[in-house]
Amino acid sequence: LVELDRAHLVHPVASWRGHEAAGVRVIASGDGATVTDTSGHRLIDGFAGLWCVNAGYGQESIVEAATRQLRTLPYATGYFGLGSEPAIRLAARLAEAAPGDLDHVFFTLGGSDAVDSTVRFVRHYWHSRGKPERDQFITLEMGYHGSSTVGAGLTALPAFHTGFGVPHDWQHRIPSHHAYRNPAGQDPAAITAASVAALRAKVKALGGPERVAAFYVEPIQGSGGVLVPPPGWMAAMRAVCAEMEILFIADEVITGFGRTGPLFACAEEGVVPDMMTTAKGLTSGYAPMGAVFLSEHVYATIADGAGQGVVGHGLTYSGHPVSAAIGLAVLDLYEGGLLENGRRAGARLMAGLQALADHPLVGDVRGRGMLAALELVTDKAAKTPLPAAAQPATRIFDRAWAQGLVLRAFPWGVIGFAPPLCCTEAEIDGILARTRAVLDETLD
Ligand code: PMP
Repeated sequence: LVELDRAHLVHPVASWRGHEAAGVRVIASGDGATVTDTSGHRLIDGFAGLWCVNAGYGQESIVEAATRQLRTLPYATGYFGLGSEPAIRLAARLAEAAPGDLDHVFFTLGGSDAVDSTVRFVRHYWHSRGKPERDQFITLEMGYHGSSTVGAGLTALPAFHTGFGVPHDWQHRIPSHHAYRNPAGQDPAAITAASVAALRAKVKALGGPERVAAFYVEPIQGSGGVLVPPPGWMAAMRAVCAEMEILFIADEVITGFGRTGPLFACAEEGVVPDMMTTAKGLTSGYAPMGAVFLSEHVYATIADGAGQGVVGHGLTYSGHPVSAAIGLAVLDLYEGGLLENGRRAGARLMAGLQALADHPLVGDVRGRGMLAALELVTDKAAKTPLPAAAQPATRIFDRAWAQGLVLRAFPWGVIGFAPPLCCTEAEIDGILARTRAVLDETLD
């Protein structure tokens, strides 16, 4: 498998530095919060795959729902006036659960095409209102919004731009609210004031609100290293956008479906966006699916009152019946105790990580619920990052793997945690004990 993988399977963003010879590690099976590789090595999956297997592996009710749907009807298009029961029922349940008037759902295959769809809906919104000049988009530094051509433009991480040369001159960024290394300091009110001022300044620089289409934000920045805004930050940014009639889009691809506690992170911020993107936890990794939630006034520009669509936008696998049946089974699990378990496990995880703050390598502990990170430094006062030449990410990942823990090690010395919400107390304690052991080894 390692040889076949090396010869034929492309992993553009995989980092093999330091273990090129070993090649890919092949996961053979999963059960609850654990996975086992082809050599029989069992590990706690501290990252739920790629922040997505929220329900954990081997959930029988999901497998049964998928199997039943595969036997009954594996496919129906939503394209020309047809539909399927699971897609309709899932849309209705999601609309019911979503904040405010986000009552209309467009299904995609994942997060990137969910983000792309919102860009098209935003553009159509302003065209249909006779304001096509509202064509500039603003996002945050350190943000991640997908890997498609448009989504990668909204993504701020430099690796997603360097060497591609795609013009993204309609996409602009303001600094992240990142507390640990924020030039505005660590005071929450000062950080929020700086972000509000930066957004206003950017809008002005672009020619005023009449040129700006939308502002995109993750409720917690995931791929940027789990960067949590201060309380009230989202609401303050939402208010600025509302005042200037700039559409406010919340990208909940990571934060949605219990990752931070509630079903949607926007809800706990008291914010209702104009559109919301989700994926990952929606089907918990059991099948590909994403969902865009549209508020009434955005929906009104895309379909008439009878649900008749008026725009050229659609996907062969939008509302795929098997993915939708899985989504319904996953929602049953969330509502049947999984969210509650995730909240309990998340509190234990955060408390345990806070207890690691006294470790000589730990500069910052941050997160909410089952979404957390440690930022490692060699000097706490100077916040000196681990030397890149020592390839800290590869070393930390390898050591955790040997200990029986999958975690995400970001190249700049941040360790990310996003375990399945089904974790037991013993598994959370296992993640914490193994992490401490990895830190102690990294100190040597
Ligand atoms: N938005 C956010 C906030 C994400 O974290 C991701 C994926 N990590 C995406 C969009 C893209 O989702 P996908 O990989 O499913 O296309």
